[in-house]
Amino acid sequence: MSDGRELMARLGPSTVKFDTGRGGAPDLTNQDIAAALGMVPAGLGRELLEALWWPDSGMRRSQQLRQAVIALVAPEYVRQQQALNVARTEFGIAKACMGWAGGPVTDAQRIEHRKAEVRLEATRALCWPNNTMEQLGVLAKAIVEEMSTCGCCRACQGLRIQAAKDGTGIVECEACGGAGVEARSGRERAAAIGADHSAYRRYWQPVYEWMLEHMRAAESIAARDFNRMVSRAA
Ligand SMILES: [Zn+2]
Repeated sequence: MSDGRELMARLGPSTVKFDTGRGGAPDLTNQDIAAALGMVPAGLGRELLEALWWPDSGMRRSQQLRQAVIALVAPEYVRQQQALNVARTEFGIAKACMGWAGGPVTDAQRIEHRKAEVRLEATRALCWPNNTMEQLGVLAKAIVEEMSTCGCCRACQGLRIQAAKDGTGIVECEACGGAGVEARSGRERAAAIGADHSAYRRYWQPVYEWMLEHMRAAESIAARDFNRMVSRAA
Protein backbone atom coordinates (compact mmCIF):
# COMPACT_ATOMS: atom_id res chain seq x y z
CA MET A 1 0.00 0.00 0.00
CA SER A 2 1.75 3.17 -1.11
CA ASP A 3 0.23 5.59 1.34
CA GLY A 4 0.86 7.28 4.67
CA ARG A 5 0.35 3.98 6.50
CA GLU A 6 3.84 2.98 5.38
CA LEU A 7 5.28 6.13 6.89
CA MET A 8 3.61 5.21 10.16
CA ALA A 9 5.02 1.71 10.01
CA ARG A 10 8.50 3.25 10.16
CA LEU A 11 7.78 5.36 13.22
CA GLY A 12 10.43 4.72 15.82
CA PRO A 13 12.36 6.42 18.56
CA SER A 14 14.74 8.20 16.17
CA THR A 15 14.11 11.47 14.39
CA VAL A 16 15.20 10.18 11.00
CA LYS A 17 13.68 12.10 8.12
CA PHE A 18 11.67 10.12 5.65
CA ASP A 19 11.62 10.85 1.98
CA THR A 20 7.97 11.12 0.94
CA GLY A 21 9.01 10.05 -2.53
CA ARG A 22 7.54 13.08 -4.18
CA GLY A 23 10.84 14.65 -5.23
CA GLY A 24 11.32 18.19 -4.00
CA ALA A 25 8.66 17.93 -1.26
CA PRO A 26 10.06 18.49 2.24
CA ASP A 27 10.81 15.28 4.12
CA LEU A 28 8.74 14.25 7.10
CA THR A 29 10.12 13.62 10.55
CA ASN A 30 8.65 11.23 13.09
CA GLN A 31 7.22 14.26 14.87
CA ASP A 32 5.40 15.36 11.70
CA ILE A 33 3.93 11.89 11.30
CA ALA A 34 2.92 11.63 14.96
CA ALA A 35 1.36 15.11 14.76
CA ALA A 36 -0.61 14.12 11.63
CA LEU A 37 -1.83 11.01 13.44
CA GLY A 38 -2.89 13.15 16.39
CA MET A 39 -5.21 15.07 14.07
CA VAL A 40 -7.06 11.96 12.89
CA PRO A 41 -10.41 11.89 14.73
CA ALA A 42 -10.29 9.61 17.78
CA GLY A 43 -12.17 6.33 17.65
CA LEU A 44 -12.07 2.81 16.28
CA GLY A 45 -10.46 3.80 12.97
CA ARG A 46 -7.51 5.57 14.56
CA GLU A 47 -7.00 2.81 17.12
CA LEU A 48 -6.91 0.24 14.30
CA LEU A 49 -4.55 2.40 12.27
CA GLU A 50 -2.14 2.42 15.19
CA ALA A 51 -2.59 -1.26 16.03
CA LEU A 52 -1.92 -2.27 12.42
CA TRP A 53 0.74 0.18 11.35
CA TRP A 54 2.45 1.31 14.52
CA PRO A 55 2.36 -1.80 16.72
CA ASP A 56 4.43 -0.23 19.55
CA SER A 57 1.82 2.43 20.04
CA GLY A 58 -0.98 -0.04 19.33
CA MET A 59 0.23 -2.18 22.24
CA ARG A 60 0.19 0.80 24.59
CA ARG A 61 -3.34 1.59 23.44
CA SER A 62 -4.91 -1.86 23.66
CA GLN A 63 -7.40 -0.61 26.25
CA GLN A 64 -8.61 2.14 23.90
CA LEU A 65 -8.94 -0.36 21.06
CA ARG A 66 -10.94 -2.66 23.33
CA GLN A 67 -13.31 0.17 24.27
CA ALA A 68 -13.75 1.11 20.60
CA VAL A 69 -14.54 -2.50 19.61
CA ILE A 70 -17.09 -2.77 22.43
CA ALA A 71 -18.65 0.52 21.32
CA LEU A 72 -18.97 -0.91 17.80
CA VAL A 73 -20.43 -4.31 18.65
CA ALA A 74 -22.48 -3.84 21.84
CA PRO A 75 -25.24 -1.61 20.35
CA GLU A 76 -25.86 -4.08 17.51
CA TYR A 77 -25.88 -7.03 19.92
CA VAL A 78 -28.35 -5.23 22.21
CA ARG A 79 -30.56 -4.33 19.23
CA GLN A 80 -30.68 -8.01 18.18
CA GLN A 81 -31.50 -9.18 21.69
CA GLN A 82 -34.28 -6.61 21.99
CA ALA A 83 -35.77 -7.68 18.65
CA LEU A 84 -35.61 -11.30 19.85
CA ASN A 85 -37.36 -10.40 23.11
CA VAL A 86 -40.15 -8.63 21.24
CA ALA A 87 -40.61 -11.59 18.86
CA ARG A 88 -40.63 -14.01 21.82
CA THR A 89 -43.21 -11.92 23.67
CA GLU A 90 -45.45 -11.70 20.60
CA PHE A 91 -45.22 -15.46 20.13
CA GLY A 92 -46.17 -15.97 23.79
CA ILE A 93 -49.16 -13.67 23.43
CA ALA A 94 -50.34 -15.44 20.26
CA LYS A 95 -50.06 -18.78 22.07
CA ALA A 96 -51.96 -17.52 25.10
CA CYS A 97 -54.75 -16.18 22.90
CA MET A 98 -55.46 -19.62 21.41
CA GLY A 99 -58.52 -20.86 23.23
CA TRP A 100 -58.34 -17.98 25.73
CA ALA A 101 -60.25 -18.80 28.97
CA GLY A 102 -61.40 -22.18 27.67
CA GLY A 103 -62.99 -20.70 24.54
CA PRO A 104 -62.71 -22.32 21.08
CA VAL A 105 -59.51 -21.93 19.01
CA THR A 106 -60.36 -19.89 15.94
CA ASP A 107 -58.69 -19.98 12.51
CA ALA A 108 -57.65 -16.37 12.95
CA GLN A 109 -55.86 -17.30 16.19
CA ARG A 110 -54.13 -20.23 14.48
CA ILE A 111 -52.95 -17.97 11.67
CA GLU A 112 -51.69 -15.36 14.15
CA HIS A 113 -49.89 -18.03 16.15
CA ARG A 114 -48.18 -19.40 13.03
CA LYS A 115 -47.17 -15.91 11.89
CA ALA A 116 -45.65 -15.11 15.29
CA GLU A 117 -43.76 -18.40 15.21
CA VAL A 118 -42.30 -17.64 11.77
CA ARG A 119 -41.30 -14.13 12.91
CA LEU A 120 -39.62 -15.56 16.01
CA GLU A 121 -37.65 -18.12 13.98
CA ALA A 122 -36.59 -15.48 11.44
CA THR A 123 -35.47 -13.09 14.19
CA ARG A 124 -33.58 -15.84 15.98
CA ALA A 125 -31.81 -16.84 12.77
CA LEU A 126 -30.43 -13.30 12.42
CA CYS A 127 -29.13 -13.13 15.99
CA TRP A 128 -25.47 -13.57 16.78
CA PRO A 129 -24.56 -16.23 19.38
CA ASN A 130 -25.62 -15.53 22.98
CA ASN A 131 -22.00 -15.53 24.13
CA THR A 132 -20.88 -12.99 21.51
CA MET A 133 -19.86 -10.42 24.11
CA GLU A 134 -17.88 -13.01 26.08
CA GLN A 135 -16.02 -13.96 22.90
CA LEU A 136 -15.45 -10.38 21.75
CA GLY A 137 -11.78 -10.29 22.74
CA VAL A 138 -11.05 -13.48 20.82
CA LEU A 139 -12.97 -12.27 17.77
CA ALA A 140 -11.33 -8.83 17.77
CA LYS A 141 -7.84 -10.32 18.08
CA ALA A 142 -8.42 -12.69 15.15
CA ILE A 143 -9.85 -9.90 13.01
CA VAL A 144 -7.00 -7.46 13.72
CA GLU A 145 -4.60 -10.28 12.88
CA GLU A 146 -6.44 -10.96 9.61
CA MET A 147 -6.35 -7.25 8.77
CA SER A 148 -2.62 -7.06 9.46
CA THR A 149 -1.56 -10.17 7.58
CA CYS A 150 -3.79 -10.30 4.51
CA GLY A 151 -2.33 -8.61 1.48
CA CYS A 152 -3.91 -7.24 -1.65
CA CYS A 153 -6.35 -9.43 -3.55
CA ARG A 154 -4.24 -11.17 -6.22
CA ALA A 155 -7.09 -11.22 -8.72
CA CYS A 156 -7.64 -7.43 -8.82
CA GLN A 157 -4.36 -6.21 -7.25
CA GLY A 158 -6.40 -4.38 -4.64
CA LEU A 159 -8.37 -2.37 -7.21
CA ARG A 160 -11.64 -4.01 -6.06
CA ILE A 161 -12.95 -4.27 -9.63
CA GLN A 162 -12.66 -6.52 -12.65
CA ALA A 163 -13.80 -6.39 -16.26
CA ALA A 164 -17.28 -7.82 -16.72
CA LYS A 165 -17.18 -11.21 -18.47
CA ASP A 166 -19.72 -10.10 -21.07
CA GLY A 167 -17.56 -7.09 -21.90
CA THR A 168 -20.14 -4.57 -20.76
CA GLY A 169 -17.82 -2.69 -18.45
CA ILE A 170 -16.53 -3.06 -14.94
CA VAL A 171 -17.95 -5.06 -12.01
CA GLU A 172 -16.95 -5.78 -8.42
CA CYS A 173 -14.02 -8.20 -8.15
CA GLU A 174 -15.43 -11.69 -7.68
CA ALA A 175 -12.42 -13.08 -5.82
CA CYS A 176 -12.50 -10.58 -2.95
CA GLY A 177 -16.12 -9.42 -3.15
CA GLY A 178 -14.93 -5.84 -3.72
CA ALA A 179 -12.89 -5.66 -0.50
CA GLY A 180 -9.57 -5.38 -2.40
CA VAL A 181 -7.83 -7.66 0.06
CA GLU A 182 -7.30 -11.39 0.37
CA ALA A 183 -9.75 -13.08 2.71
CA ARG A 184 -8.84 -15.84 5.12
CA SER A 185 -10.70 -19.08 4.60
CA GLY A 186 -13.44 -20.17 6.99
CA ARG A 187 -11.09 -22.85 8.30
CA GLU A 188 -8.36 -20.33 9.06
CA ARG A 189 -10.83 -18.04 10.80
CA ALA A 190 -12.25 -20.94 12.81
CA ALA A 191 -8.74 -21.89 13.96
CA ALA A 192 -7.99 -18.26 14.85
CA ILE A 193 -11.00 -18.06 17.19
CA GLY A 194 -10.52 -21.58 18.57
CA ALA A 195 -13.73 -22.97 17.08
CA ASP A 196 -14.16 -25.91 14.75
CA HIS A 197 -15.04 -25.20 11.15
CA SER A 198 -18.69 -26.23 11.41
CA ALA A 199 -19.22 -24.10 14.54
CA TYR A 200 -17.62 -21.17 12.73
CA ARG A 201 -19.93 -21.55 9.75
CA ARG A 202 -23.02 -22.15 11.83
CA TYR A 203 -22.60 -19.55 14.57
CA TRP A 204 -19.63 -17.24 14.19
CA GLN A 205 -19.38 -16.38 10.51
CA PRO A 206 -22.06 -13.61 10.54
CA VAL A 207 -20.58 -11.74 13.51
CA TYR A 208 -17.01 -12.24 12.26
CA GLU A 209 -17.83 -10.89 8.81
CA TRP A 210 -19.87 -7.99 10.23
CA MET A 211 -17.02 -6.96 12.53
CA LEU A 212 -14.40 -7.34 9.80
CA GLU A 213 -16.40 -5.21 7.38
CA HIS A 214 -17.02 -2.44 9.94
CA MET A 215 -13.46 -2.47 11.26
CA ARG A 216 -12.01 -2.33 7.74
CA ALA A 217 -14.27 0.57 6.85
CA ALA A 218 -13.31 2.47 10.03
CA GLU A 219 -9.59 1.89 9.42
CA SER A 220 -9.79 2.98 5.82
CA ILE A 221 -11.59 6.25 6.73
CA ALA A 222 -8.94 6.94 9.39
CA ALA A 223 -6.18 6.15 6.85
CA ARG A 224 -7.72 8.61 4.39
CA ASP A 225 -7.78 11.31 7.09
CA PHE A 226 -4.20 10.48 8.04
CA ASN A 227 -3.03 10.73 4.42
CA ARG A 228 -4.66 14.14 4.15
CA MET A 229 -2.93 15.35 7.33
CA VAL A 230 0.43 13.95 6.16
CA SER A 231 0.24 15.65 2.79
CA ARG A 232 -0.63 18.90 4.54
CA ALA A 233 2.43 18.50 6.79
CA ALA A 234 4.75 17.72 3.84
ZN1 LIG B 1 -10.19 -8.55 -5.71
